[in-house]
Amino acid sequence: MSAVLKSSRVIEVHSPFTGTVSGTVPMATVDDVRQAFATARAYKSKLTRYDRASILQKAATLLRERVEAASDLITSESGLCKKDSIYEVGRVCDVLNFSATEALKDDGQSFSCDLTPHGKNRRVFTKREPLLGAISAITPFNHPMNQVAHKVAPSIATNNRMVLKPSEKTPLSAIYLAELLYEAGLPKPMFTIVTGDPREIADELITNVDVDLVTFTGGVSVGKYIASKAGYRRIVLELGGNDPIIVMEDADLEEAATLAVQGSYKNSGQRCTAVKRMLVQESVAERFVDLVVQKTKAWSYGNPTDRKMEMGTVIDEAAAKQFEARVNEAVAQGARLLVGNLRQGALYSPTVLDNVKPEMTVVKQETFGPVSPIIRFGNIDEAIAISNGTAYGLSSAVCTNRLDYVMKFVAELQVGTVNVREVPGYRLELTPFGGIKDSGLGYKEGVQEAMKSFTNLKTFSLPGA
Ligand code: NAD
Repeated sequence: MSAVLKSSRVIEVHSPFTGTVSGTVPMATVDDVRQAFATARAYKSKLTRYDRASILQKAATLLRERVEAASDLITSESGLCKKDSIYEVGRVCDVLNFSATEALKDDGQSFSCDLTPHGKNRRVFTKREPLLGAISAITPFNHPMNQVAHKVAPSIATNNRMVLKPSEKTPLSAIYLAELLYEAGLPKPMFTIVTGDPREIADELITNVDVDLVTFTGGVSVGKYIASKAGYRRIVLELGGNDPIIVMEDADLEEAATLAVQGSYKNSGQRCTAVKRMLVQESVAERFVDLVVQKTKAWSYGNPTDRKMEMGTVIDEAAAKQFEARVNEAVAQGARLLVGNLRQGALYSPTVLDNVKPEMTVVKQETFGPVSPIIRFGNIDEAIAISNGTAYGLSSAVCTNRLDYVMKFVAELQVGTVNVREVPGYRLELTPFGGIKDSGLGYKEGVQEAMKSFTNLKTFSLPGA
């Protein structure tokens, strides 16, 4: 049996670089989706903690053995370069391994009840149980396999049943991961993939009666649509970002510029936590801009299958055209184009824009590609105001060694994460991750937090201590 439901209608998946067909997937109907949820809900897993950990560990081992094949597939459907897709596969292995380890941990608590004058000789215990219904998961294109891993691995670790709809732009990596999990011993009803046109099946994924929780990673507009539709069920939303790197006057500029370009161009700039705005204190701006330009010119891009490339394409030509248009608009409004803004199909070159103003679309909206807009500021209060001045609140990077600055940033930046002298995207797959404002409702992902959100906490009490 394959990981997806069969269908006579198919969706073609194209390589963004060559335009050729990388594969086809079934186009599910609403009835197919209903059937998938009914099967998921009806299945009650009997897997022990040991069984779940073993499956997850085995899947990690299998994936490590197949890193070339898996990364080729990611590259073929997403246009991400081999360096990026190999890194992605390594991250998926980490997610599987952390989930295996967490599955072995009993996080139950116990409370003695004789703590107050009216206390009793009893004890309250807690335990986490899988949800009664199914989990509905919806993932974006930018990390085609890792976003799927972040949904399914904690679901397996907690003995849940999940139906997942990957992005219609990159469904092949999701199916690959599902097949691998089955091979590692996962009972098929615990994970089903449905592929299809969101205009047709998305509402069913959000409102189906068998769904207890919708976990979504993607853009703000779809996230808010889900919030408006989901009704009385749990939702976890990981939405867009507009993350700054803030460079203070005392920063090591070489280090700051390296972090800035890496944060801006890795994964073709398509990370929710990519550096999307570079805020630099005006007294060091000239030197910082020079370094960013120099490092941008050295950032190779082109054929994604060429192992030497540091960047492949973006997801499609439409996305590349949007970046081009936003950069052109900013230039017309007074920004200075220093490098890039070259486009050929879905290939878009690393691009540096100086003299950017916070009200320009390129930084007011999330520009989900390899664009480095530089904004200058006078003092830390201005930097914080600019940083907080968009609708987003995902992550941030600050480059400084002054403890007073660091503590002020940690206290005043309206974000889910502050990374000091590191890219905004830095994290372990295990650690809590997620944003506030339009970037998310404050519930976190990361293996540990996802396991909490995917479970019901039950308490029970017994007489005696
Ligand atoms: P998207 O919102 O366009 O699509 C995401 C998923 O939602 C896809 O599977 C799509 O088919 C589905 N979808 C489309 N319409 C839907 C509807 N009406 N109801 C339910 N689902 C629907 O996002 P994208 O372009 O694939 O991904 C890029 C976005 O994802 C960026 O904004 C990025 O910042 C964000 N993102 C956020 C995180 C995070 O953890 N915060 C991580 C990665 C990406």
